Amino acid sequence: MPVSPVLIVGSMALDSVRTPMGSVTDALGGAADYSGVAASFFAPVQLVGVVGSDFPPEHLEYLKSRGIDLAGVQTVEGGKTFRWAGYYDFDLNVAHTLDTQLNVFADFQPSLPQNYKNAKYVFLANIDPELQLQVLTQVESPKLTVCDTMNFWIEGKRDALVEVLKRVDIAFMNDAEARQLTGQLSVIKAAKALQEMGPKTVIIKKGEHGALLFSGDTHFAAPSYPLEDIADPTGAGDTFAGGFIGYVASQDDTSVATLKKAVIYGSVLASYNVEDFSLNRMRTLTKADIRARYRAFQEIAHFEALEDVGA
Ligand code: AMP
Repeated sequence: MPVSPVLIVGSMALDSVRTPMGSVTDALGGAADYSGVAASFFAPVQLVGVVGSDFPPEHLEYLKSRGIDLAGVQTVEGGKTFRWAGYYDFDLNVAHTLDTQLNVFADFQPSLPQNYKNAKYVFLANIDPELQLQVLTQVESPKLTVCDTMNFWIEGKRDALVEVLKRVDIAFMNDAEARQLTGQLSVIKAAKALQEMGPKTVIIKKGEHGALLFSGDTHFAAPSYPLEDIADPTGAGDTFAGGFIGYVASQDDTSVATLKKAVIYGSVLASYNVEDFSLNRMRTLTKADIRARYRAFQEIAHFEALEDVGA
C-alpha cells in the first residue's frame, strides 16, 4: 500500500540565528521546511506556503530532492520571503526573537491544489492561525489533523488560535506556550486545559528535556537524548512534529501505541537536527541513522519492573 501523503502548511523562512556555537544569516528555515523535511523521511509531503523571489532556488531544489510536492507553494515576484531573526543563550530551550518579518505571508491566501484536498494527514505548522484555518477548511475529510503554534500567535491571534484548537485532533505546544495560553503553571493542568479546548491529544515539547504525550487519560513521557554536539536548537520543535506525523502517516494508524512510537521518532529527528545550523544535518541524515538512534532512545528509557517483594 502506498503511504498517504502528509499535507503541511507553515512558514517558509530565511532565518538569521546566533547561538553560543556560531551564527547564520538568511539560512533556510521555517516551520514548513523543517517539518516537511522531517516528515519526508517517512511519507510523501505536500507543502503549502509562500516565498518571495529572493528565496534561493537551491532551497526549493533541496525540498524537491526530498520528494516534497511544491505545487502548493507560491512564489511572489518582487516579494520578500518571511524572515525570522533570533538568538539563544546557554539556556537552549529559550529562543529570543529579535525580529519577525511576515513579508509575503502577510497577504497570503492559500489555495490548495486539487490533489491536496483529499489529504488524510494534515499538519498545520507554525504560522498565522487564520491561515491554518483557511487550509483546514479546504481539506475534505482528513483522518488526522495536527497543529503547532508559538507565543507570537498566542499573543497576536488568540481567538483564531482557539478556533484552530477546537478543530484539530492533536495539538503540539512547548511547555512555556501551553502555560501562557491556558494560564496554568502546572504542565499537567495546562495539558488538560488544552484538551478541554478541543484536541483529544496534546503533546508538550520540553526542548532538550523530552516530550509529554497526553491522549485521553493516557500519559506518556519521552526521554531526551543525551546529545554531545548541539549547535542550534532552531527548528527542533518543527522537526519533532514533522517526524511525528510522517511516522503516523507511514503506519496509517492513529492508535495511542503508534502515537507513542511517533513521539520517539520525532525526538530522534529533532535530536539530529540540533547538531548543526539550519537544516544542514538533515542533508546527510539516513534512515539507518534514524533507526540507530531510535534504539538508543529505547535503551535510555527502558527499566525493569518492580521486583515482587511480597506483602
Ligand atoms: P522551532 O521549531 O520552534 O524552533 O521553530 C523555528 C522556526 O520557526 C524558525 O525556522 C522560524 O523561521 C519559524 N518562526 C519564527 N517565528 C515564527 C512565526 N511567528 N510564525 C511562523 N514561523 C515562525
